[in-house]
Amino acid sequence: MDAVSVVGGGIAGLALAARLDPRRFRVTIHERREELPPVETSLAMWPEAQQALDALGILPDVRTAGSRFGGVALRDGSGRVFLRGQAPDVIGVSRADLLRLLETAVPASAARAYGPVRSLPESDLVVGADGVHSRVRRAVWGERSRARLSPYLALRGILDVPVPPDAGGEYWGRGQLFGITPASRGRTYWYASYRSDLGPDGIDVGEALALTRERFSGPAAGIARVLASAAPGQTLAQRIWTAPPLRRYATEGAVLVGDAAHGMTPNLGRGACEALIDAVTLADLLNSRPLRNALQTYSRRRLLRTQALRAASSAMTRLALADRAQPLRDGLFRLAGHAGR
Ligand SMILES: Cc1cc2nc3c(=O)[nH]c(=O)nc-3n(C[C@H](O)[C@H](O)[C@H](O)COP(=O)(O)OP(=O)(O)OC[C@H]3O[C@@H](n4cnc5c(N)ncnc54)[C@H](O)[C@@H]3O)c2cc1C
Repeated sequence: MDAVSVVGGGIAGLALAARLDPRRFRVTIHERREELPPVETSLAMWPEAQQALDALGILPDVRTAGSRFGGVALRDGSGRVFLRGQAPDVIGVSRADLLRLLETAVPASAARAYGPVRSLPESDLVVGADGVHSRVRRAVWGERSRARLSPYLALRGILDVPVPPDAGGEYWGRGQLFGITPASRGRTYWYASYRSDLGPDGIDVGEALALTRERFSGPAAGIARVLASAAPGQTLAQRIWTAPPLRRYATEGAVLVGDAAHGMTPNLGRGACEALIDAVTLADLLNSRPLRNALQTYSRRRLLRTQALRAASSAMTRLALADRAQPLRDGLFRLAGHAGR
């Protein structure tokens, strides 16, 4: 039986441990935190990720715990709608609910080790599922593979109130964006992003929230209502980091999944989705092929798509947070909106 050390018990790590065949692998999950993250946030699950959740046997529970997106709107900074569409196949699920459900899918045979991993565990295979700042990536791919700091700050949280009438959607202003979507149990998920020098570590959430209220004090009434209800204890504020581009996700005895492999800006809402797909793809290959072949095939199968999404997500960030080009962008969207009528 091969020993597999999964470093990181987040979305990618738990999904992998859930899908690996316990008759073939002795799995240990190393996770630095013992509790779920204290602030609730929400994740969009696209159809491909739902297939991965189905393979893990938890799709019906995720559907029950989550909420359907339904209609989506792209708005300008004042709240006027550029474009409307439908996203009936996308589910919004709270990260805490998703992690809880993934935990239920992990076989009891998987061992747990709590506390931060500082050096690579002894194992036949070490899996870096330890997020964008992956220690496994730095240990195996070298210090040049350190995470990169973007100039953007992101704030987000879930409010215990429904989405205000006609306020849902994504607002693209000048150098800043704001999102309002339904969250599970009739609540509201909101997020904001803009360039900022705050952090990267030790960001004071109260200060970040005050700054955000000031920045978004324009005419969009929906944003003002959401921000009036947001409290620091229910808000997460962090700078956005990305993983550097990599040419392969596996070497002899080590492999990367999720943000450790391809941490991207959040603007396409794909990072957690791809983490789930990585995990199921890798586990199915490991369950059915010799180790070396499984690792090489995994890297080949996942590299192109995820690196393309990484690049597309950065492009989307630049478009959504355009500063000087904002009037041109908005003009083009208005034209597209008229043409579509
Ligand atoms: C603002 C924002 C919004 C987003 N929205 C979406 C969305 O709508 N849809 C979507 O698909 N994605 C979204 N994402 C991306 C998503 O959050 C990530 O892609 C996803 O969390 C990656 O999962 P992961 O398991 O690879 O890494 P992580 O979630 O970072 O998990 C890594 C785990 O490893 C543990 N760990 C780290 N280092 C160590 C160590 N040394 N020792 C032990 N344990 C360690 C951590 O505690 C953590 O539990 C968003 C991201 C941001 C920032």
